[in-house]
Amino acid sequence: MGSKFTFTCPNCSFSLGVWDEGGMAYIKDPKGKKHPIIHPGEMETIEFCARQYPEAAGMNQTELLAFAEKHIVIRLQGMCLDCAKLFTGEEGPTPKKCRSCKSPNTIWLSHIGGKRCPKCKQGHFPEEGRFSAIS
Ligand SMILES: [Zn+2]
Ligand SMILES: [Zn+2]
Repeated sequence: MGSKFTFTCPNCSFSLGVWDEGGMAYIKDPKGKKHPIIHPGEMETIEFCARQYPEAAGMNQTELLAFAEKHIVIRLQGMCLDCAKLFTGEEGPTPKKCRSCKSPNTIWLSHIGGKRCPKCKQGHFPEEGRFSAIS
């Protein structure tokens, strides 16, 4: 569940859709494989992965969910403010360099409000996006 906001550059009309929760959640199994946590069925995915850890043996459901949280990673979508290259990465600091142009001006899309447009490099995105959809 989430809302989508569209940020449009007033100068060149380049627009970006940003989900307010900002990212996709995954749970890692003991082999390091990431399983997307998708609604419906998210509890099954979480339990299925958490149960594969030897430490989880004998845990009740509450303990298992607390344990599973440590293995959940959030992948966010980000963008380079110099070349508009989109990327995804794990929650935390944005990548130090854009993989395309090596610029250090990378941000998560959840912080795009008020930033300079990477396409025309003149307009600035509005502080608030325009509400466009509910999933
Ligand atoms: Zn622009
Ligand atoms: Zn770049």
